Amino acid sequence: MRRYRRGMLSSPPRVRHLAPLCCMSSQLSIKDVLGRGGVLSRRLDGFRERPQQVEMADAVLSAVHDEAHLVVEAPTGVGKSLAYLVPVLLGAIATGRKVVISTHTIALQDQLLEKDIPLLAACLPIEFTVTKALGRNNYLGLRRLGLAMERAPDLLADDPAVVALRRVHGWAESAFEGRRQELDPPVRPEIWDQVQSETDNCLGHRCEQFKACFYQSARRRLQTADIIVTNHALYCTDLMLRQQDMGLLPEHPVLVIDEAHHLERVAQEHLGLSLSRRALRHFLRRLLGGRGTQGLLKRLDGDGVEAAQTLARKIGESGDRFFGDVDRWCASRPGSNGRYREPALWDDVLSADLAALADRLDVIAGGQERDEVRIEVEAFGRRSLAICSTVRGLLAADDPDLVYFVERDSVRRHVELAARPLDVATIFERELFDKMGTVIATSATLASGRTEKDLSYFAKRHGCSGARQLVLGSPFDYQRLVEVHVPPDIPFPDEDGFDAAVADVALRYVDRVGGGAFILFTSYRALEACWRRLAGPLSTRGLMALRQGDTMDRATMLTRFRADGNAVLFGTESFWHGVDVPGPALRLVVITRLPFPVPTLPMNEARAERLRRNGEDPFPRFFLPEAVIRFRQGCGRLVRTEDDEGLIVCLDRRVVERPYGRRFRDSLDDAPWSSGAEDASDVSQD
Ligand code: SF4
Repeated sequence: MRRYRRGMLSSPPRVRHLAPLCCMSSQLSIKDVLGRGGVLSRRLDGFRERPQQVEMADAVLSAVHDEAHLVVEAPTGVGKSLAYLVPVLLGAIATGRKVVISTHTIALQDQLLEKDIPLLAACLPIEFTVTKALGRNNYLGLRRLGLAMERAPDLLADDPAVVALRRVHGWAESAFEGRRQELDPPVRPEIWDQVQSETDNCLGHRCEQFKACFYQSARRRLQTADIIVTNHALYCTDLMLRQQDMGLLPEHPVLVIDEAHHLERVAQEHLGLSLSRRALRHFLRRLLGGRGTQGLLKRLDGDGVEAAQTLARKIGESGDRFFGDVDRWCASRPGSNGRYREPALWDDVLSADLAALADRLDVIAGGQERDEVRIEVEAFGRRSLAICSTVRGLLAADDPDLVYFVERDSVRRHVELAARPLDVATIFERELFDKMGTVIATSATLASGRTEKDLSYFAKRHGCSGARQLVLGSPFDYQRLVEVHVPPDIPFPDEDGFDAAVADVALRYVDRVGGGAFILFTSYRALEACWRRLAGPLSTRGLMALRQGDTMDRATMLTRFRADGNAVLFGTESFWHGVDVPGPALRLVVITRLPFPVPTLPMNEARAERLRRNGEDPFPRFFLPEAVIRFRQGCGRLVRTEDDEGLIVCLDRRVVERPYGRRFRDSLDDAPWSSGAEDASDVSQD
């Protein structure tokens, strides 16, 4: 077998400072780096001391020194990544403690790895190494690539697939780190399936490619790196694996969780059970072939192979029947949220055959002469058994800590059974906060208000009630930059005429500022209703209108929005947060409705039930704080830099006419509220 050259990096990229400073790192204070006349202001044009940034950095440094945990809300403009990177470098790396930084988005990982960390490496007298941790399937498996090339005629069903595999083979010669993302253009998933590195068929030290292996090189980099940047999904998976001593990430006394507001949902998705029709078909396709590949069982000879194929085909048919039953169950309950609580709602036509298939694959594996093939077959046996146990768990529906439900999208023909833990706080407390020296959790919006006490909601749900808490003020002068209008001439959301009024008033404000608007909705239904009314008038005015849910993806919508300068964007869920449009292209944000969590969604319903069972009122304990956080996130789209200014229009009168409205009004930094009329009075004082 040919030996492939692995990536150029035999060790983590060594990041060195470019401008040595005479003082030792331990003698540098936060002010020396982030303060007026400090290291960064000498290095960067336009860098100014930001008191909030210094305050956060001091708090992080104290937490690192004291081995304490810290939750910190750092609004847009604080410069939070430098506010944790500087103290982490001065306090942890300089004293030999490994740090993991987990983020939700690739954009933030790129910012850390390509901008912030290199900047500090160039400025600070600290030598350190940094690397990125990715999931295993992102790496090319050299052993599997060799096997695939050897068996290409059997493995691949058509010429384009063979050409694609050859391209991967050619790329492997010069690949940098062997990551899938380096392949340009990318290959089809079916081809990558054949060559990706996988846990359950890795030969480890026995592999001839062990030294050259991209994944093993990445693991070695993780062991020696001082800073590891990763994502929440991988971190949560690793958290589970660590409990079985199978974790990928090495010991790290310091963890920084950026974009921490996403952590709970990601953890729920990764710590529960799920099985979709698509996932089952994908598993079977890898055994039986399809979409340009031949399937493992098609390439094997010997006893039991044919019987295993028959069994796998039977599972495919049973799977279609099973998910068809689930689909019909949902369709027969219009208005149902898909949640189920009873065991054995659908006939278990899968698990016995999946267990039998696992047995057969084990026998077939035992008859294979070549190690590589045997291990591959064994891996499929284990996967079959894992799916079997997932099916049984999902049908038993007997774990009181899990919420069981069906997710269904009839347009995409997606059906999935899922069981998610309602409470991840216990796991975080036990596996993170009790075990680790320092965890810093931060985000631009974590608090359900503007004080430290408002962080207790986040802290409780993440198992860190004992953590230090800090809510920083915004560095922007909201009083000067922003006005919030609540037009009085609009019905309440549950009254007739609300949708029409939303469209009318939104258009009035769009006319007033000449476009450059986000109109944010809490449901697609409401978005569609408004879109139908406004698409024509906006077109007549020559304004570009962008609608979430069209064929255009979110990134393209944003690019076009920014480039146009006067566009109007209709968005739901994902446009309320994590969207950055600095400058005048965005000068109006319309909040069509207060973003209370949908009470009928399974997880929300279950949370409310649990609170009621505990004698607590779910409205102040869950729905209100969630809505306030999301409201703040939505409003936060408007001002991204100190030069931004504009108008926030809230079309939900409850914000001024219901007692709880004050929580929303108080949650925005000092922005003046009014009805928007010429003779408007301040509504924030009522
Ligand atoms: S060490 Fe494991 S992942 Fe790496 S090439 Fe060998 S089998 Fe594949």
